[in-house]
Amino acid sequence: MLIVMRHGASADEVQKVISVIEEMGYQATPMPGAQRTAVGLVGNDGRVDASRLEGLPGVQEVIHVSKPYKQVSREWRPEPTVVKLAGGVTVGGNEVVAMAGPCSLETERQVLESARVVKEAGAVILRGGAWKPRSSPYSFQGLGRPGLKLLAKAREETGLLICTEAMDPDGVGWVSEMADIVQIGARNMQNFSLLKVAGRCGKPILLKRGISATIVELLLSAEYLLAEGNYNVILCERGVRSFDTMTRNLFDLTAIPVVHKLSHLPIIADPSHGTGLRDKVIPMARAAVAAGADGIMVEVHPNPEEALSDGAQTLYPDQFTQLMREVRIIAEAIGRRVAEPAAVGA
Ligand code: PEP
Ligand code: MN
Repeated sequence: MLIVMRHGASADEVQKVISVIEEMGYQATPMPGAQRTAVGLVGNDGRVDASRLEGLPGVQEVIHVSKPYKQVSREWRPEPTVVKLAGGVTVGGNEVVAMAGPCSLETERQVLESARVVKEAGAVILRGGAWKPRSSPYSFQGLGRPGLKLLAKAREETGLLICTEAMDPDGVGWVSEMADIVQIGARNMQNFSLLKVAGRCGKPILLKRGISATIVELLLSAEYLLAEGNYNVILCERGVRSFDTMTRNLFDLTAIPVVHKLSHLPIIADPSHGTGLRDKVIPMARAAVAAGADGIMVEVHPNPEEALSDGAQTLYPDQFTQLMREVRIIAEAIGRRVAEPAAVGA
């Protein structure tokens, strides 16, 4: 439930609303806005009797949020959330951000070379996993913590921001110490205890859609993060399982406008995992930007044939360079622009 205060309501009036919510046994979240202040009521599982709040001085109206993913919903916050990252990079505003890099971090040379090429092409965020959620326990599992050191070095050298996955609570601790964005992967989208830890880690979260998750389930998982006080959440469409084996996943482009309608959170698109096929990544990345994605996440490797994971869906550096040229034109055609890398290390 949202208690919308009158324009010019006093701090005492807002405080009174907060106290009454707390007396009723719920939590109050004050949300000062440019036009009006609202106080959110959370902690209820069902409709709340608003009669005590409606009559309080300074209260303009009480809005019952109909969606189960309350704080994530547009009803709760009509204006889009803009996640602010270091170096003035924003996700969810007018800029379209490119996150790119290898599937797995492998060697120092591979990480640094990847960082250089994706920056050169126009990415602002370096992606790459130190811990990899692999279907087989015998597949390469990632470098672990030494991988994070390589990312730190790449950031120092290039100024790129870092997005990397945490697979368990310890990982959230280590990743949130160094990365700019903590990624929660598709397989962990409904790992609710991990989401609670991530919600308290203090860093922006990239939450990827589960392999067979509905859009409502994705939004409910994001609600876990907001419920812990982390409002810097970026969603990611990365394809879902389908009956058709022609592509690795069914890349659900419709999710982008659907999420934008239902939620104020930004959503980016990952056509690499979405399609699993190098030659399909480029058209679907272009389509995602045209559909309004707030960014793209693309796997790029200096030498994809030698990649220890996901080589078949990984772009060659020159393909990514060409894609970025095209994406700039598409972004411009819909009144947006692609975020450009900072001058660090240029
Ligand atoms: C990844 O981005 O490295 C990854 C493993 O993706 P997903 O969780 O979407 O499979
Ligand atoms: Mn991958």
